[in-house]
Amino acid sequence: MPELPEVEITARLLGAAVAGARVESTSAPGVNALKTFDPPLHALDGSRLTGVARRGKHLVVGSDAGLVLLVHLMSAGRLQLFDKRASMRDRTSRLLIRLADGRELRLREFGTRQAAWAKLLRADALEDEEALATLGPEAWPDPPPLGPLLGSQARPLHSLLRDQRTIAGIGRSWVDEILWEARLSPFKRGADLTAAEAQALREAVVARLGEAIAVYERTLSVPLPDRLPLPLKVHRHEGRPCPRCGTTLEAVHFEDYVIAYCPACQTEGRVLKDRRLSRLLK
Ligand SMILES: [Zn+2]
Repeated sequence: MPELPEVEITARLLGAAVAGARVESTSAPGVNALKTFDPPLHALDGSRLTGVARRGKHLVVGSDAGLVLLVHLMSAGRLQLFDKRASMRDRTSRLLIRLADGRELRLREFGTRQAAWAKLLRADALEDEEALATLGPEAWPDPPPLGPLLGSQARPLHSLLRDQRTIAGIGRSWVDEILWEARLSPFKRGADLTAAEAQALREAVVARLGEAIAVYERTLSVPLPDRLPLPLKVHRHEGRPCPRCGTTLEAVHFEDYVIAYCPACQTEGRVLKDRRLSRLLK
């Protein structure tokens, strides 16, 4: 699932590659992908792309026609640039922007669900768009102090940090890395954070997201691969030794996601109940 570091590197690499390119034609083979109809997608035809920006986990493709294409990749979408046009049989294609130089910017989605979406908006209407207007402050590069942001919240940190209205950009993968880095339990409540813990958490957010982006800067280039190699240490590593203390990493399984953590570093040695099992046994 693309989160802030993956969306950031996508915006940087694609933005540099497409800036100045002229749009020849556009189409939306994914029936549900384009969520707006006015202005029509063809309003982009003939314009020049100005770049690609990131807002939270959204991509914003700019055009000199005064239009922006706001894209959310959801869990399985990718925005990729190809030297050749998509085959009609590429069933992953959701939205295509064909460039006059022969390249193609393609919103693709893997799997059977169609959840990735795009909205074509007038540039001056972008900030009023609900998806952006409701976003919390950016998690990177300079989030606000987290004590005031999380301190009144009874919800656990794992849920708070993934709530895009609270802080924008973090999802199920990087939240595990951040909480491990800060040595905080995923189930600690926002309201129970000490000032020192809130400070450590903010530093962990900036450090882990920044490190990931730096790794991508060194290792990735256009064309972006279908699967980005996430430099994770804890998430999806349950059963392996903690990279800091060697204790076996544990996991709590929920219906559609898994929390991985180190009991020694984060939960004072406690192994947390598996919520999936405990609910089944009720
Ligand atoms: Zn540990």
